[in-house]
Amino acid sequence: MTSYEYRCDSDGMLLEVKFRLGTAPESITCERCGGQARRVFSKPMLLSSRRDRVAMLEHAEKTRTDPDVVTSLPSAGARKRTPVLPLTPTLRRLPRP
Ligand SMILES: [Zn+2]
Repeated sequence: MTSYEYRCDSDGMLLEVKFRLGTAPESITCERCGGQARRVFSKPMLLSSRRDRVAMLEHAEKTRTDPDVVTSLPSAGARKRTPVLPLTPTLRRLPRP
């Protein structure tokens, strides 16, 4: 048996119901009001995860429906140049193209 979560469309109640794996219906009847409760997908184990990982997952989920839109290039100061190694005496001895 696996736990599945359903949220009622009418009153927002969150229901946890157990079904055999792969047999959970898309919607069930709400226990409280009799309305339709649709299956929702929870984020397992996030309460014990690190805060930055949770923020990253929530941002990734948000971009599915509300993507960040860029309308211009970043300013010249914000662009990073390719890092160049300082020419140490050892590097100066290497052959150059
Ligand atoms: Zn309900």
